[in-house]
Amino acid sequence: MASRGVTPGDGYGGYRAQLVETLRRKGIRDLAVLRAVAETPRHLFVPESVRHRAYEDSALPIGGGQTISQPFVQARYLEVLALTGREKALEVGTGSGYQTALLSQLAGTVFSVERLPHLAQQARQVLEATGCRNVTVLVGDGTLGWRAFAPYDAILVAAASPSVPAPLVEQLAEGGRLVIPLGDRQAQVLTLVQRTTRGVEQSAIGDVRFVPLIGEFGFRE
Ligand code: SAM
Repeated sequence: MASRGVTPGDGYGGYRAQLVETLRRKGIRDLAVLRAVAETPRHLFVPESVRHRAYEDSALPIGGGQTISQPFVQARYLEVLALTGREKALEVGTGSGYQTALLSQLAGTVFSVERLPHLAQQARQVLEATGCRNVTVLVGDGTLGWRAFAPYDAILVAAASPSVPAPLVEQLAEGGRLVIPLGDRQAQVLTLVQRTTRGVEQSAIGDVRFVPLIGEFGFRE
C-alpha cells in the first residue's frame, strides 16, 4: 500500500472529516477505505466551477458529459473489492482520477483505462500532483481490459455495462474480484463477479446509476 495524502492545512480537512462521517453513517465500515477518503483531496479532482461542492456526497459533472461518482458509491465499490494493499488492480473509466487515487491507497499497483484522452491527461496530472506513484493511466477501450499487465487481482468498472465484458473476466486472476454496474442505460445493479476454482460467480450489491461504458464489449456510442 502506497502512502500519500493531502497537503496538511489545505483548508478542506474539516469537509473531508464530515464526508467520512457521512459515509460511516450510511454504512461504510472498512477503515482503510474511510482513511483513504479522509486523505484524498477530492476538491483537486473536480472542475473549479463545482469545487465548492467537492465534499458533498453527490456525483458532480467533470466535463465531456461525464461525472465523478457519488463518494458513497465509490467507497462501496472499494469495500466490496476487499483489498489488502498488495493487489494489482485494473480500473476501467478513470474519469477525474479521484477513485483511482482512493484505489491507489488500497492496492499495490493500479492500471486505469479511460477512453477520453483529455480526461486521462487531466487525471494523470492531478494524480501526479497528489503523489499517486503506483498508478498508470492508459487511453483506450477498457472493455478490452489491458492484456499486457493481466491478470488482475481486482477490477473496478466505473461505467454501466449491459453485461460483464468477456476480456475482463479472462483477465481476472483466480480468486480475483471484479465490481461492475450491470443493466441498461437508465438503471443498473452494482454486481460483484468472483473468479473461483468453481468458475465465475455473481452477486448483487445494490441499485446504482452510471454513465454508459462505451466500447466493443459495452454499449455503442
Ligand atoms: N470513478 C471516476 C471518478 O472518480 O471520477 C468516474 C468515472 S465516470 C462515472 C465513467 C468514466 O468511464 C468516464 O470518464 C467515461 O469516459 C469512461 N468510459 C466509458 N466507457 C469507457 C471505456 N470503454 N473504456 C474506458 N473508459 C470508459
